[in-house]
Amino acid sequence: MAKKDQTQFFQRIILTNESESDIEEYSEVAEQLLDAVNLREKYVFHPKIWKADAVPGEKPPYHPFEVSEDQMVTSDHTYKVVNGVYFVYSNENEMKNENPLYSVPHTLSSYYKDINNLMMFCSYGPAKTFTFKRLQLLESKFNMHILLNDSLELLQQKTAPHRDFYNVRKVDTHVHHSSSMNQKHLLKFIKRKLKEHPNEIVIFRDDKYLTLAEVFKSLNLNVDELSVDTLDVHADNNTFHRFDKFNLKYNPCGQSRLREIFLKTDNLIKGKYLAEITKEVFEDLEKSKYQSAEYRLSIYGRKMSEWDTLASWVVDNELFSTKARWLIQIPRLYDVYRETSTTTFQDFLNNVFHPLFEVTKDPSSHPKLHKFLQQVVGIDCVDDESKFEKKFTEKFPVPGDWNSEHNPPYTYYLYYLYANLYTLNKFREEKGYNILTLRPHSGEAGEVDHMAAAFYLAHGINHGINLRKTPVLQYLYYLTQIGIAMSPLSNNSLFLTYHRNPFPVFFARGLNVSISTDDPLQFHYTKEPLMEEYSIATQVWRLSPCDICEIARNSVLQSGFEHNVKSHWLGPDYANSLGNDIKKTNISDIRVCFRNETLTEELHLILKSLQTLPHFKDLNISFLLNKLPSEITSGNEYKFKKGQLKLASSNKSIRTSSVGSTPNSNTPTSSTPTLNSSPGAIVHLMKTKPYNPPPLSLNVFKGESQTNINQNQNNSSPTVVSTQPTTTPNPIEN
Ligand SMILES: [Zn+2]
Repeated sequence: MAKKDQTQFFQRIILTNESESDIEEYSEVAEQLLDAVNLREKYVFHPKIWKADAVPGEKPPYHPFEVSEDQMVTSDHTYKVVNGVYFVYSNENEMKNENPLYSVPHTLSSYYKDINNLMMFCSYGPAKTFTFKRLQLLESKFNMHILLNDSLELLQQKTAPHRDFYNVRKVDTHVHHSSSMNQKHLLKFIKRKLKEHPNEIVIFRDDKYLTLAEVFKSLNLNVDELSVDTLDVHADNNTFHRFDKFNLKYNPCGQSRLREIFLKTDNLIKGKYLAEITKEVFEDLEKSKYQSAEYRLSIYGRKMSEWDTLASWVVDNELFSTKARWLIQIPRLYDVYRETSTTTFQDFLNNVFHPLFEVTKDPSSHPKLHKFLQQVVGIDCVDDESKFEKKFTEKFPVPGDWNSEHNPPYTYYLYYLYANLYTLNKFREEKGYNILTLRPHSGEAGEVDHMAAAFYLAHGINHGINLRKTPVLQYLYYLTQIGIAMSPLSNNSLFLTYHRNPFPVFFARGLNVSISTDDPLQFHYTKEPLMEEYSIATQVWRLSPCDICEIARNSVLQSGFEHNVKSHWLGPDYANSLGNDIKKTNISDIRVCFRNETLTEELHLILKSLQTLPHFKDLNISFLLNKLPSEITSGNEYKFKKGQLKLASSNKSIRTSSVGSTPNSNTPTSSTPTLNSSPGAIVHLMKTKPYNPPPLSLNVFKGESQTNINQNQNNSSPTVVSTQPTTTPNPIEN
């Protein structure tokens, strides 16, 4: 009983006597923050949950290499490219009438206008001051929370039977497939092949077919002398700020032909060796049981057959694990291929997207691709972000007219990947197929506008370390809780030394961050690279058991694993921000509660600031109403906004809002899970026990409620930080 009582309360940090003038002063900033968030809501594709009724289970709701008959239906849909984007029509007639089924919410020019506005906002003085202060405050709040509650959190973790960090689910959210094995693994594999199959013909070079033994002879390499050092695939001091040199590390022993033989899916042996290594990597994953990974496979956009070749490689080799899913990475290499295979940027886009629209219309046109796509969860966009980008002074041409020798900038690539994915996903949803999310590399290096583009368009990003340079964007990523898959060991070798990595700061501030490996071949030493990554982070940054379990849960949430798999891993209420199941996640409810209250306070602060604007009534605040708990938004001044919210919700099929539900309902609601977490549901969704509203900030309530709760009122000091243990009594017992 004593134990149970311990978990019912924790110490909260409460800010009182907020300065009214501050709130008013920042109303303009709040409005622009709201604009940015609203724009993102408009841009980003909101998926329905795929097969939401699926029973929680370890296995995906499909058979990886089988497709049911009713899925193989050809439809009358047609499609064509309009200004660089595939449009889908219900039939030929509709196409003649230029009546597409779905349209992309924004055009290229409005997109660039939005990016420019956001970049201007990022350098706007008051915005920088406001967001910088808020981020600092978030960090301080977390540090004080830990100071006051870490032993309580630990105590609560100890009550979770069987569960510990080793057996909570964690996903390697960002890893490139061709470097998913470690250097020792690759070395052993090469040696084994050389010894067992020296006479296998593996490559066609210089007008002749060569066996494996001949290849090594031509390179003056002796099998007995091969070591990890001669293999030379590990990143070292020479790769720092040299992405070009880093890319060369993919060549074992510095030889591109070895890369082609061992690390390519499309070669003379049809990727046989890489398939064998992949199976071994999958076996290691299966053994570790609680680790999963999302591997990136490449589509270059050189020719349309790439998709079929890749799909055949996966399907023919039966590459499937319940612990792995695929993402497709698209390198930004138009300028390289322009010489040989693609003349305009549109050719490149056609090569990437045409097969996808074709297979969605008629799965029997590419049966293997259709099967393979079941396991593909997203599209990534990769390359060296620090490359110089030509600033185009005139308006950007549409992809059909882009035949310049210059590579389009990052933002241009991202827009056309986004826009085509948008219509593709609508199309796939209509046909009952899974969708692909956009999860590009962004903010590893280079310009800040990469992350501004990703803020509007992407479901999640990889790296994001450059968010440290711009508090405004960082704060926006926090408010919207966009997933960021960070790889501190990779950064340490390439762009940012370990001790300067912003990961621990982002984590403390409450950004939705996960830890990932990026390239185990280049950065890691052990058979469990993800654990290596966690282990180093934990020790260097002194993360607590609750911290690393929270990071692990973030990784599952960010991942593209199916809804039923996530339910199995995190608990059926996982999609709700308060639906923590400590028996599965090993995260103390206290931590989850703290994170939600903190985010709620930020959103409420913005709402209060907005209220001081004369045109408040004209603002679209549905994002805030959706996220804030009903005791904040049930006041008269929001009544008129409820209509707006309903309208906004009905337009988006995924929204189920907690707004309007009874605040103190004792029965936990089994709400339909949504993809958008809803911290607003603070009140009634704590799963394990009925939960009263925490004294959400005294910061939060105005007027009478503030005087009720705030016992430390001190009119002379502008802001008082007080801490008080606050019980959250069990309403049933009352
Ligand atoms: Zn990467």
